[in-house]
Order: sequence, then structure tokens, then C-alpha cells
Amino acid sequence: MLDKLLNSLVAMAPVALLAGILLAAGFRRNRVVWLLSLLALDAWGWHNAGRDLLIALAAPALALWISVRPERPLLSPRNLILAGATALMLWFAGGLGEAGVARLQAWNANAYTWPAGLGTIALLYFGAAFVCSLHWFQRRGAADMGASAALACAALAAIPSDSSAPTAAWLTLGALLAVAGVLVQAFRMAFVDALTGLPNRRALDEELARSEGRLAVAMVDVDHFKRFNDRHGHDAGDVVLRNVARALRRCRGGHAFRYGGEEFSIVFTHSDMERISEALDLTRKRIQETRVRLGKGRLPKSRPQAVRKGTKNGEVHVTVSIGLAGSADQHAHPQLLIEAADKALYKAKRDGRNRLVVA
Ligand code: GH3
Ligand code: MG
Ligand code: MG
Repeated sequence: MLDKLLNSLVAMAPVALLAGILLAAGFRRNRVVWLLSLLALDAWGWHNAGRDLLIALAAPALALWISVRPERPLLSPRNLILAGATALMLWFAGGLGEAGVARLQAWNANAYTWPAGLGTIALLYFGAAFVCSLHWFQRRGAADMGASAALACAALAAIPSDSSAPTAAWLTLGALLAVAGVLVQAFRMAFVDALTGLPNRRALDEELARSEGRLAVAMVDVDHFKRFNDRHGHDAGDVVLRNVARALRRCRGGHAFRYGGEEFSIVFTHSDMERISEALDLTRKRIQETRVRLGKGRLPKSRPQAVRKGTKNGEVHVTVSIGLAGSADQHAHPQLLIEAADKALYKAKRDGRNRLVVA
């Protein structure tokens, strides 16, 4: 069953790899571009004369090196050297011909035995896969996870087995997983705010455009946030924004979005204003009570002591103002609803901040 599936994947190999490389390049996932190029080289190596010795050993070694190194611009000097070396390798391998390959194989017969040669290849690929999964763990970039799966597939391809599935099938499966990883990350880049993890303004616009029936929208704005940033530094501001986002996500019955800057929206798919007001007021209080401890790294470098002195036990907090509008108020069109919520928000600011105003 699995063999059949893998066999049917082989025909897709070039398309999958090319699609993966182009997609990864388009979304600036440079490490994935290089890793997939190496897999393409490896697949080519398997296809031609079984496996070319140089490619067999160089591709996984380079893959491990690329995985460990920090990500660079696609055309950085280091990457250009890498591209040159790869092209040289291809040219050299292509120029060898069968006789040359046979001579190299004879020279290092170990490269084709298990576990000495093939085992080393598998180990290098597994190592690269492990490093990529660490990148994913650190940054939650799905492209890294896809690359990790692809490298694991390349490692499996090197392990001899009784399966009739050709090695290239594993590499194709790997390329497809890498494509899926880039697509998932591309989706996140388009619809999810990187700082808070909340869906972004584009996601909000689409949700509102699709919505039917009664709606209520709350606009939430952090109070005096410019002053907060000036006093405690931008990094501390970022931590606060993440905390505010966490609290908004917990708001009962609502779906929170980052509208932009220090402004957020919460969409409710009903317009029971009493229930919504209760949930929003509870959220507002939670934010007011959340204390953020300023660590060393979060203080501005210029005058950290002065800033710490202005806080209570090195702890800070913020408040938010909220404007709420529901479609029961005749603002049925989502855009009008947002405008009404915005007006209510400005009233909340004028009335002294840290409060909820219903339109
Ligand atoms: P108000 O109570 O009237 O809303 O005053 P405010 O200072 O909050 O409003 P203003 O619009 O003057 O300032 C918003 C500040 O939000 C300015 C900007 O530096 C900060 N800000 C916007 N986005 C971010 C961000 O992603 N991180 C951090 N740290 N600050 C941000
Ligand atoms: Mg604002
Ligand atoms: Mg503000």
C-alpha cells in the first residue's frame, strides 16, 4: 500500500521539488531553498548511475551545514560560494560518465555499503532534520518543520530496505512535505500577526465580509502606550502587547484580532450587548490586573536604572479602553459597525480611559 503510494509519487518529483524551491524563494525561506536544491541534486544523483559518490556524500553534509548556519539572504556571499560549489559538483559529476563513477566507486566502495557509507548519509540527513526541527521549535516556522520532514525522508531514502519503492519516491514525499510547510507558513504570514499570534487585520476584514446575521464588534486600544514605550522601552511594550492579546483571546464568546499597532478588535457573532459587555469588562479588569516584570533585557539600554525606579518592584501594567457596537444599533454593515465601535472607543478615551463604552 505504502509502496504503491510512494511509487506513484515518483512522477511528481521534479514538479514537487521545483514548486518547493520557487515557493520557498518567493516567501524568503532561504534555508529551505537551499535544502530543497540539495534534495533535487540528490534525487538526480539517484536517478543517474544509481548514486553519484560525490553527491551522495556532499549533499547530506552540505544539508547539515546549511541547517546549522543562521539564515542569510539568498544571494549572500556565502550562499553564492555554496551555489558555485554545487554547480562545480554537478559539472564534475556529470563529466565523470559511468566509467568515472565506477572508478570512484571502486576507490571508495564503502560509500555504497550499509552501514558505513549509506549509514553516514542517513545520519547526516537525520542530523540536519533534527536541527531544522529545533529551528521550528524556536520560531514556530512551519517551513522549518517541512524542511525537517523532507530531510528525514532523505535519510530514509538512504536506508536499504526490502521495499520496492524507489528512493526517489522518498525524496519526492520529502519535497511535498516541504512544500506543505512553506504553504502553511505562507498562510500564517498572510493572516496571523507575528508578535501576538492573533489573526491580523486581513483576517478580520475577511471574517467580517463573510459574516451573516447579527454581529457585535469591540475596538480595544491600549491607554497611553506611547508613554509606556518611552518610559520602559519597546521590548517591554512588546511583552505587554502579547499579554493583552492573551487576555483578549480569553474573552468569552469573542474572536480577537490585532487591528494594528496597539489596537485590537473582538468580533462577536451575536449581539446580546449585556452578555458581551460583561465579558469585555471582565477582560478589561484582567488586563488592568496583569503585572509585567521588567527583566534586564526589556529595559532601554540608555537609562535602565532610572526606568526601573519609576516602577513598583520593577513591575508594570497597562489599561485598555474599549468601544463596543452591535448590529442591533442599526449598524448592520460591518464597516459601519467598526466605525461606530471606534467612535465609542474615542468616547471611552475622552471620558478618562480604562473603561468600556457601548455605542
Ligand atoms: P491613547 O491612550 O490615546 O491611545 O494614547 P497612546 O499613546 O496609546 O496612542 P498613540 O497612538 O499616540 O501611540 C500608540 C503607540 O503604540 C505608538 C507606538 O510606538 C506604539 N506601538 C504600536 N505598535 C507597537 C508594537 O508593535 N510594539 C510596541 N512596543 N509599541 C507599539
Ligand atoms: Mg491607538
Ligand atoms: Mg493607545
